[in-house]
Amino acid sequence: MHPYPSPQLEDSFGRRFPYLRLSILDACNFRCSYCLPNGYRAKDGRGKYLDVQEIQRLVSAFARLGMRKLRITGGEPSLRRDLPELISVAAEATGVENVGLTTNGATLHRHLNRWIDAGLTALNVSVDALCPERFERITGHAGLEMLLDAIDQALDSPLRSVKINAVLLRDLNDDQLPKWLEYLRDRNVTVRFIELMQTGDNLEYFQRHHYRAQVLESHLVKEGWQLLDRATDAGPAREYQHRDFRGRIGIIAPYSANFCAGCNRLRVTANGDLRLCLFGETGVPLRPLLQSDDQFSALQATLIRQLGLKRAGHSLHAGETGLIQHFASIGG
Ligand code: SAM
Ligand code: SF4
Repeated sequence: MHPYPSPQLEDSFGRRFPYLRLSILDACNFRCSYCLPNGYRAKDGRGKYLDVQEIQRLVSAFARLGMRKLRITGGEPSLRRDLPELISVAAEATGVENVGLTTNGATLHRHLNRWIDAGLTALNVSVDALCPERFERITGHAGLEMLLDAIDQALDSPLRSVKINAVLLRDLNDDQLPKWLEYLRDRNVTVRFIELMQTGDNLEYFQRHHYRAQVLESHLVKEGWQLLDRATDAGPAREYQHRDFRGRIGIIAPYSANFCAGCNRLRVTANGDLRLCLFGETGVPLRPLLQSDDQFSALQATLIRQLGLKRAGHSLHAGETGLIQHFASIGG
């Protein structure tokens, strides 16, 4: 039983929002070719990220309205020195049951235990290829071996969930499936293949490297992978299992029909703009309502009002990518 059963964040299509993705900075130390191919370039927003106190107020307001799972993302969230403090502020908010982190894992080997001690319960690590050269070509970063060792360490830790994200890229990693299968044979982990999404910055790249998740999914089904029932609070991934493998495979196919019908997430950018949809046209500045504890009711009222404006779905099929230039600006 939750201490605050109501009111709930609900939109005009009856969807509820127990899940918030909070970006804590837009900077990154990688140069993933589909996201920040030229590396991070600071804009005038630098240094204006929400601070610990603002995040505490934000998380409390969302949790009061039914948010149960917070995912911290970026840019690369591990670049913020106060990350452990942010994790513990989120973990201590009344009503929050899960605090997740999405990271490129470059410093996972050093920080994992601190993050767990602070209250982290779920970890998603991006690994776009299992061949070191390929990994470096896609991310601009060497060090795959150390990353894989750190993931094994995370799998042995008390974390409730460890997942790997890999973006599907034609001609760059579409030959990696045999290696992934080898990897999954004895590891209790889910690898989620994400279909590349078009953003404001990557049209040419998208046209060259977009690979339909459905192609992979059909292949997996032919090879005996079976779709698992979807939990009501599940994310957008369709998850498969196979009796010969300990690990599971998730497919995230944002271009598939019905992708938006199960939407259960909201997003807040690193400087406090609410984004009702990853590909939405508007950002609602929440920061002015995060300046004192007295603003709690006004903040909640704004969240409830904004939810009424959430649209049924994105228009990505029509190439409408909304405000998003690249995912580092909002956290995916
Ligand atoms: N830096 C962290 C990381 O890479 O895990 C967190 C932020 S990153 C923007 C979050 C996720 O978005 C990553 O798994 C990344 O692979 C994915 N992503 C970035 N750009 C994408 C795109 N255009 N299409 C699909 N996924 C994308
Ligand atoms: Fe950085 Fe993540 Fe974007 Fe790669 S996907 S450039 S690691 S923010």
